[in-house]
Amino acid sequence: MNQITRRSALTLAAALTIPALVPAPLRAQGTYPNKPITIIVPFAAGGPTDVVTRLVAEIMSRDLGQPVVVENVGGAGGTLGAQRVAQARPDGYTLLLHHIGMGTTPSLYRRLAYDAVNGFETVGLVTEVPMTIIAKKDFPANNLAEMIQVLRERKQNVNLANAGVGAASHICGLLLQSAVQTQLTTVPYRGTGPAMTDLISGTVDIMCDQTTNTTQQINSGAVKAFAVTTATRNAALPNLPTAAEAGLPGFEVSVWHGLYAPKGTDSAILNRLSRALQVALRDERLMARFAELGTAPVSQEQATPDYHRRYWQADVAKWRPIIQAAGQYAD
Ligand code: ASP
Repeated sequence: MNQITRRSALTLAAALTIPALVPAPLRAQGTYPNKPITIIVPFAAGGPTDVVTRLVAEIMSRDLGQPVVVENVGGAGGTLGAQRVAQARPDGYTLLLHHIGMGTTPSLYRRLAYDAVNGFETVGLVTEVPMTIIAKKDFPANNLAEMIQVLRERKQNVNLANAGVGAASHICGLLLQSAVQTQLTTVPYRGTGPAMTDLISGTVDIMCDQTTNTTQQINSGAVKAFAVTTATRNAALPNLPTAAEAGLPGFEVSVWHGLYAPKGTDSAILNRLSRALQVALRDERLMARFAELGTAPVSQEQATPDYHRRYWQADVAKWRPIIQAAGQYAD
């Protein structure tokens, strides 16, 4: 992974002699932040990205000494919320907390109203979350093998919920349909928070979603679970087999999350935000809550702008040939 740093070139002469030309973010450094910060979640409230963001935002707010407000801008697989941030002022007051969709969107969408690769600065990675394959509680299967049988028999009569093209639930659903070699009927939502409500009421049949949204529903019996999509079992769901154990070898998806700012945000602001993120990720209450939800924070080194940028770029490069080969575009 190559490190690329982008800093605006400010000549020494200009800096010394023409202070009025110094960009606003640089002038604001000393006092940043001096007003509330908004983190846009590009999915509906109540879903897994929202849950992670709210936990992190609360502690960052204490460290930064300013309110950190979470705003949900769901729709179009996360691209509407991402666009809002890419087009916001790069002053450190509008941020984005997004997931693996930042790696897949540049290839899945060939026409976007914003630059999905160069429109952002990175602040730090946050967490990597396993997914689970789940169904409404009266789905007529009791394990993954039986579920696969039902999917093959009922095909498009099975409704598969997701959070739109580019969402983690969409990618996981594509992998599932390809592994099972059948086509289901996809039902897109603005996020898997509302999709979960419909799964619990039985309006849709199945879904792939992060443990941060599914662990409690699985453990309370509100939904049925068939597998976790990681190589090893999850401590919060110890009885749930891995997809490989349950009959789908190599079926592995996990969902990394990161915090972003609009392109052009000054590096001093990015570093201040990264320090606040690191404080949040080593908070004992946050770690305990993450563990209950089947996940864990990344290391302090991973919660930095440079590490995050390298990781994100590698993920964009990883997905491009896969998506091109599949020919599965959103537009
Ligand atoms: N879990 C969702 C997804 O499919 C997004 C969300 O609602 O947080 O990517």
